[in-house]
This record gives sequence, structure tokens and C-alpha cells, in this order.
Amino acid sequence: MRKRLVIANWKMNGSFALADEVVAGISATSNVDVIVVPPSVYAPRLIESAEGSFGVGLQDVSPFENGAHTGDISAAMAAGVGATAVIVGHSERRGEHGESDAIVAAKARIVLAEGLMPVICVGESLAERESGQAQRRVRAQIEAQADCLRAGGQIAIAYEPIWAIGTGKSASAMEAVAMLKEIREMLRDVIAERADGIRILYGGSVNAKNAAELFSHDEIEGVLVGGASLDTEQFAAIIRAADV
Ligand code: PEP
Repeated sequence: MRKRLVIANWKMNGSFALADEVVAGISATSNVDVIVVPPSVYAPRLIESAEGSFGVGLQDVSPFENGAHTGDISAAMAAGVGATAVIVGHSERRGEHGESDAIVAAKARIVLAEGLMPVICVGESLAERESGQAQRRVRAQIEAQADCLRAGGQIAIAYEPIWAIGTGKSASAMEAVAMLKEIREMLRDVIAERADGIRILYGGSVNAKNAAELFSHDEIEGVLVGGASLDTEQFAAIIRAADV
């Protein structure tokens, strides 16, 4: 089994104080890759103080290289400050900012072109799951990333069912594993055996209590953690649970 990847998504939360607390609280383990993704204003501070003991990512970048895009940050800028990864296609961006699969694909490509790892989020809504459309929705989101997947490089896919994000209602380990297996097959349909090089993560109300159960399944190669990553002790416990 390859090294697991635990990613903290702070969303629009945090402070310089939390950044400093996290640096002190993450105990380095050589068996788990950790990436902390704060609001971008805190990223340089974290990168400097992490001194390589964990990676730092951004929550989003522009699909454009540069220019008149007020408020946006480019993938080149993310690379320039020393970020190692960028989350793209989070359901909150798809929902609140109307980001289509095509926009997400453009972002993933530009992130990859800058030598950073796109963490591409996919996942169905509750209505899609209840109407039996979950696989179809996720397949469409994966297939929209075909160019990026074919380009190769380090890529992670995060399966984040929308109904499990920030709700305290995690998918069960069996539900997560079933979809992660499907996603592996979907990736194989696009890039054949190279699909095995892509890490597939689960995200949705992961916390210190359910992490061990999730990580008892080899298919769960990592997690994307929102709310629980703001609690340094809980986040450290999730990292420990991944170290099996
Ligand atoms: C997320 O923000 O990607 C997420 C999974 O959030 P939470 O862990 O709070 O559900």
C-alpha cells in the first residue's frame, strides 16, 4: 500500500495563530504525507515555518495564466510561494461560484503545468445519490478531467459526496470504499494502467472518531478534512490513524 495523504482544508477559517499552532501540532511521520491548505494569505507563513515537514497547498487558483482577473491567484503564483498542491473543483466552489466541469478541468491543467498536484474534488449531491445517479455524476466529473489525466504527473482525486461535507454525516466506510473502487475503474477507462498512479481520497465529515474505521480499508488512500482540521489535536489524531 502506498503512503497515505492527509489534507487539511481550512476553507475560509484560520489565523496566523492557528498556522503557528498547526506547525507545532503536526508530528512528522515518514509514513503519511500531510498537506495543509489554509486561506492563501496564510500560506507563505505556513510554508516558511513548516520547513518541508508537511506540504502547503492553496484552495483554488484561476484557470488563466495572468492578467485582469481581480481577486484571483494564478497557479504560477502558487508555485512561486512554494505551494505543492491546489484543491480544484471543491463542491463549495462549484456551488457558490458556478464552476463547471470545464472550468475545473482548466484549473487542474494549469496547476499540473506548474508542477503542482491538483487535488480534484468530485462527488454527487444527496438528490443524485437518492435517485441512483451518483456513479453517473462522478463519472462525468472524472471524464471531464481526461486531458489532465492523460497529461500525467502527480494528481489526486478526492471523492467528496456533497451530502457528507460539513454535515457531520460521513459516508460509511463501505459507501466510500464502493465509490473509490468505481472511481479507480473510471480512471482506468480513461488512462488504462496509469490510473494506478493516482491517489484517491475520501472527504466528508472525517474526524478523529471515524478516521480509524475509514483507514482500515486500503482503498482509502487518504482523506480531505475540513472542519476537524481546524482542531489541531483532532487533526493530529487523524494523521496518526492514517499511519497504519
Ligand atoms: C471539505 O471541506 O472538503 C470537507 C470534507 O469538509 P468537512 O470535513 O468539514 O466535511
